[in-house]
Amino acid sequence: MITSNIIADSQKYIMNTYGRQPLVLVKGRGMKVYDSDGREYLDFVSGVAVNNLGHCHPRVVVALQKQAQRLMHVSNHYHNEPQINLAKMLVQNSFGDKVFFCNSGTEAIEAAIKLARRYSREVLHLNRFEIITMRGSFHGRTMGALAATAQEKFHKSFEPLVDGFRYVPYNDADAVERAVNEHTCAVLVEPIQGEGGVNVPSAGYLKALRDICDRNNLLLMLDEVQTGMGRTGKLFAYEHTGVAPDVAALAKGLGAGMAIGALLATDKAAQAFTPGSHGSTFGGNPLACAAAIASLDVLLEDNILLPAVEQHGQHFLQSLENLKKQFGFVKDVRGKGLLIGMELDFECKEIVTACLKEGFLINCTMDNILRFMPPLIVSTEEIDQLIDALTTIFSKR
Ligand code: PLP
Repeated sequence: MITSNIIADSQKYIMNTYGRQPLVLVKGRGMKVYDSDGREYLDFVSGVAVNNLGHCHPRVVVALQKQAQRLMHVSNHYHNEPQINLAKMLVQNSFGDKVFFCNSGTEAIEAAIKLARRYSREVLHLNRFEIITMRGSFHGRTMGALAATAQEKFHKSFEPLVDGFRYVPYNDADAVERAVNEHTCAVLVEPIQGEGGVNVPSAGYLKALRDICDRNNLLLMLDEVQTGMGRTGKLFAYEHTGVAPDVAALAKGLGAGMAIGALLATDKAAQAFTPGSHGSTFGGNPLACAAAIASLDVLLEDNILLPAVEQHGQHFLQSLENLKKQFGFVKDVRGKGLLIGMELDFECKEIVTACLKEGFLINCTMDNILRFMPPLIVSTEEIDQLIDALTTIFSKR
């Protein structure tokens, strides 16, 4: 089928919720994806920070094939080994003691919101329900996660929102302190804001939030949906800070391309959930868990990949800094590991389109911030190829 016909069918049969690029991706391997016309692209989007090991990593493919032949889905009324093994791996490599599995980032956030409210009511026996979240945050699109997301543009026409969220500026611990009241049960924050423009808070911010939560008996809940699973050079971004949360939401990179989300929690927080209090039909299904186990195995193996993320991230940032020196319209370059933003003084759609023509997939957020989040396996040469393309594109402006 020719590409224009495929796209016409897409427009005819699929609801119009995405501004899509006019290409149909049919195949991927490592850093590369291919469209229906056989064109090759270097993928600096990774399905929005999902394909952390690149496309179709052979170890993930084999794990999926094996598991698909054995057992794909069973109800959570029974135990299944891949789910247990994945939970064990996550617990052994994080602050968490217990895991709840779901299928996406927004579901992990819903679980966090419900856990925080229940923790107050059932464990502390206090009628507290309010959660403090940060301006510029993005936590997902279901009604609870949407209300947690402190960006009005996502709320428009969906009001009334779920009650019980208080918004304060990001990277301002004093504002959080001032927002705490007798109804507050938790603070929910991204260690680095992703959709909000790759905003990296000052050193000490999470520590200050931890102190506020400890003093007021609140849960500190991290949204590591975008920053988790190695994206910043550590398995979880909180590891850079010396501070551990009570709860963390995971998704995106967890399943190396399979849909899976998870909520990690300490025993203290996790005790709020009891049979029947929360659940998911597909959450923790053997197939998605098998992919996540294979992916974690690769990520953690021999301590090679995560240190490389830091190194490649520094090289990437430095190269973008050099572009900033050359081109006055580049306002800022920021990020950590392989979650990097470049703020321009104009809308960056045209740069995304120009990169596409040159064979690079890149993303734009908040209209004027280019966001780069390649698979964690990206090489220095591949980063340099993108920098060369950006240099040419910027020069023509
Ligand atoms: N939280 C963060 C930080 C995100 O970046 C996203 C998605 O971009 C979500 C939550 C929602 O995840 P999902 O799209 O899997 O529901």
